[in-house]
Amino acid sequence: MTDTFGLPDRNLLLRLRDIAATRQLHILALGAGTQSTTIAHLAATGAVPDVIPRFDVMIFADTGWESRLVYDHLTRIEAFAAEAGIPLVKTSRGNIREDALRPTGHYFSMPLHTLSPTGHRGIMKRGCTRGYKIEPLERVERAFLGAPIDANGNVGKVPAGRGCVKYLGISEDESRRALDDEAMPRYSEVCHPLIELHATRQSCKTYLANNKLGDCPESSCVPCPFHGNRRWREMRDQRPAEWQAACAFDESIRHGHPAAGTPLNGTAYLHRARVPLSEAPIDVITPKERREQQGELNLVDLATFEEDPPGCGLYACRTTEIPQAAALEAGA
Ligand code: SF4
Repeated sequence: MTDTFGLPDRNLLLRLRDIAATRQLHILALGAGTQSTTIAHLAATGAVPDVIPRFDVMIFADTGWESRLVYDHLTRIEAFAAEAGIPLVKTSRGNIREDALRPTGHYFSMPLHTLSPTGHRGIMKRGCTRGYKIEPLERVERAFLGAPIDANGNVGKVPAGRGCVKYLGISEDESRRALDDEAMPRYSEVCHPLIELHATRQSCKTYLANNKLGDCPESSCVPCPFHGNRRWREMRDQRPAEWQAACAFDESIRHGHPAAGTPLNGTAYLHRARVPLSEAPIDVITPKERREQQGELNLVDLATFEEDPPGCGLYACRTTEIPQAAALEAGA
């Protein structure tokens, strides 16, 4: 079921509005990575109904330029969810690549790595997660909860007394990223079922492997500037068309987002080495990556510096720690 910033299927909209008039809706914010896929599968199988109910709906917000692996994987989620009678709504605000390169008009800033003429390293504001993921998801959510929709498709406020429980895919080992209700719109309660189940990212991976979903990809945009070397290498070696497109995009944003109006004072890059992606040292294996390969990740690795964050989490973007890392790298 696709909503391209029109609104979802009218029958579904009306059905969920009817339910919302009687009780809270149970909604999975589906990022389609390891953790939220685990929750989706547990919901579909009804394995732990006290913690993970059969959702009224799952919502995936599409930035328009994710890896084909993610789109293929979404098709699988949609299939097992449909078997369990759980609708999956895909919503999209637009295409992050097209918006980023358009010479005029609105865009949501990507966290491009920057280099000033004096050699100062910085990072641009990350507006993309909110613009392409959070806001579209909340717009659909408000519509399901009975908010008025005007002729232009603008969705207003949720009527008083209506609300939802929003389930997020944050595992116990990542619980520092867990949000509380105050970080959410007033109509939603947040629920972290994996934390309740003491599930870690690794135990989710094992669960998925045991359920023929072991090849679940990490969900994030093809050109995400937060990719580490491992992700870039996999793209170059396994999905050359995506790699070529990312390299071309990298060249195109060298002076920032064209629609910014004011030219960037310096240059911008996708790779944090701040060199063209096609020349970036992506074959360098970092010490953290080596420890990961050897199964020797320690608490410091898990809690602080993530070279290759596992995808773009909807509300608790797993990449939020990278700017700090970039700052450290820059000696800031
Ligand atoms: S994956 Fe990266 S580029 Fe895409 S929305 Fe998240 S932070 Fe932005």
